[in-house]
Amino acid sequence: MHRFHRLTVIALAAALACPSPSFAAGPGVPAAANAQALPTAQDGYFQRIERVADGVWLIAQPQPFHIQPIGNVVVVEQEDGLVLVDAGGSPGAGRRIVELVRSVSDKPVKAVAITHWHGDHALGLSAIAQAWPQVEVIATDTTASHLRGRSMKAYPKGVPDATQQAAFDQRLEGLDTFLRDTLARPDLSVADRRGFEASQRLLNQYRLDTRDLYLVLPTRTFGERLLLDDPRRPVELRHPGRANTDGDLVAWLPKQRVIATGDLLVAPIPFGFNAYPADWLRSLQSVKALQPAVWIPGHGPAMRDDGYADRVIALISHTRDAVAPLAARKVGVDQAKKDIDLSADRKRFVGEDAWLTRWFDRYWTQPFTDAAYREATGQPIEQGEG
Ligand SMILES: [Zn+2]
Repeated sequence: MHRFHRLTVIALAAALACPSPSFAAGPGVPAAANAQALPTAQDGYFQRIERVADGVWLIAQPQPFHIQPIGNVVVVEQEDGLVLVDAGGSPGAGRRIVELVRSVSDKPVKAVAITHWHGDHALGLSAIAQAWPQVEVIATDTTASHLRGRSMKAYPKGVPDATQQAAFDQRLEGLDTFLRDTLARPDLSVADRRGFEASQRLLNQYRLDTRDLYLVLPTRTFGERLLLDDPRRPVELRHPGRANTDGDLVAWLPKQRVIATGDLLVAPIPFGFNAYPADWLRSLQSVKALQPAVWIPGHGPAMRDDGYADRVIALISHTRDAVAPLAARKVGVDQAKKDIDLSADRKRFVGEDAWLTRWFDRYWTQPFTDAAYREATGQPIEQGEG
């Protein structure tokens, strides 16, 4: 139905998460002071590169959940260069990636595989391509068409653009206002205040990092499978089917048995926006059938067993099962979002953590109920705008 900008979705999710609709900004809010504050080591900016297997590294946000997420970056060393899976969410994050990659290898980055079209996985490409101009950018055909087309139409391609940059900055202004208004609320819990303050610091960094923003388009695309061969660390890029988006890519290292899943897996809270419930289930099961020893999700830490994947498989399944009878009874989708009870699953993901509980509802229950309802009633599920 409506086409949402992803940033808007995230801001909207944040706005909906407010405990009451009152946005009264208190006097004496140190807005200028807050605007100066930049992330601490715990706030989720890329800080370090971690070895997950021989010749395989992960760059991940240090904190488990962020309003402004940055997708994980996987680095694989091959004989004649490095292969990256995803590129970070901004030119600034891309510059951090370049530094961190150089701290573990002298080889050039020869290819970056983009798991899906969302900006938090693709918008660091510009800095990576500046550092290694020969780099190949690889995506599935479907993801490439989203990057070239409507989904990312708000972003400059190949070079910065002042008008589009101004429009982008304007959208961030809205998020900034929301965070300031939220932090001005006297009734905010300690946990929420801490979470929103960290979000604000991260947003400040994001504003700096997204200057001179532009998207680098794929130079090589594929439909089902593309092998980046290597004697020690071959990388199989696969489209497992639709899942979190319609063009998802996973990267499989058969010798190391490492899988980089993109947003098929996101921890600690999966993202349910504009997803394809039944296909996601099938795709995740087909990835599990590879029997990975290490799962690297699109967000969150590397995992050494199937436990989290199983939990997500169960969650998708339970959510579909809970939505189907509501859709069959022709309960409206808004009512279905109110009626649905995923509290048992939610507890398995976030325990009693109030901050995470809030975001589980906004990033999973609400959007995925929408997707499952569409599926159950035969309505199309379309990708949004970044
Ligand atoms: Zn993501």
